[in-house]
Amino acid sequence: MPYIPAEDRYEQAPYRRAGRSGVLLPPVSLGFWHNFGGDRDLADMRAVVRRAFDLGVTHFDLANNYGPPYGSAETNLGTILRADLSRHRDELIISTKAGYDMWPGPYGDHGSRKYLLASLDQSLGRLGLDYLDVFYHHREDPETPLEETMGALAQAVRSGRALYAGISNYSPERTRQAARMLADMGVPLLLHQPSYSMFNRHVENGLLDMLADIGVGAAVFSPLQQGLLTDRYLHGVPAGSRATEGRFLTEDQATDQTYLERARGLQEIAASRGQSLAQMALSWVLRNPTVTTALVGASSVAQLEDSVAARENLEFADDELEAIDAFAVD
Ligand code: NDP
Repeated sequence: MPYIPAEDRYEQAPYRRAGRSGVLLPPVSLGFWHNFGGDRDLADMRAVVRRAFDLGVTHFDLANNYGPPYGSAETNLGTILRADLSRHRDELIISTKAGYDMWPGPYGDHGSRKYLLASLDQSLGRLGLDYLDVFYHHREDPETPLEETMGALAQAVRSGRALYAGISNYSPERTRQAARMLADMGVPLLLHQPSYSMFNRHVENGLLDMLADIGVGAAVFSPLQQGLLTDRYLHGVPAGSRATEGRFLTEDQATDQTYLERARGLQEIAASRGQSLAQMALSWVLRNPTVTTALVGASSVAQLEDSVAARENLEFADDELEAIDAFAVD
């Protein structure tokens, strides 16, 4: 059956402006770090992507090495785009990144011009796209001059292979320098991608204020703390959950008593707002207008639907925020 997107897909989503740019993003965007690798069923991924688009989720976030194996998330999204969304390319913001290890040898990691531009071409090939919307440098590389890395991002944009430039996991100081260098090359920095959640509040110590000051949006990653800020682990560790993989999240973290007490406390506050814990966690990161979008992962359509519905209640009363602060600690 050919896919026909929902006609009302743009009616519900309160799109948000990325910094002082022309780009609007949905409050909740779909990330491809987990659940889109070669170890997953393409039909499940396709269902999540279709549902996302039906719900007005116009932004998909990838990186060269998402999988496993590396590259497979881009390949899988490329297959889905060709099958279902090729007529809707102009309705999508697709981002990818380079900066972590990708291929063997000295040119497949870090921040050189050699690595970034080769990786960008590889990503375009896997995705089957002529251009990306956003190309990010994935992490700081203190060994490579920032001028070289930013020069590569500017070249990516000038050559038409990317429409906008982004950086991820950069400190406030390096972000300011990077934004200035890009601006001097006529390529504004669109987005910074830091981690941010109720259990990980480092961006509140200067980064978000600085981004507001220079007019750059934040696309925040792991806003559900990889599932800890949902009901996923409140009654044990389910088979197939990320904690059972034990790589980026462990069963110890998901069964820790202090964690469980905090999560249950937060869940009660969420219930009093008529939200799931996941929804409140997302509304909470979005309470700051500098946060343009929350990048979520989803291993099922049901999770995606639950998360996207956070947009129905983005307001917090002061006493709710105070109550949350008692549990929302790093
Ligand atoms: P989240 O914090 O959103 O965690 C996603 C996981 O939480 C899911 O895989 C699922 O776990 C669980 N989950 C999601 N929604 C629900 C729900 N409504 N109810 C119950 N459980 C739920 O984000 P990720 O850590 O996946 O990161 C999101 C995106 O951010 C990535 O895909 C990537 O695009 C980006 N990212 C960027 C990084 C960077 O360095 N720039 C680093 C990390 C991520 P389960 O799989 O167990 O079902």
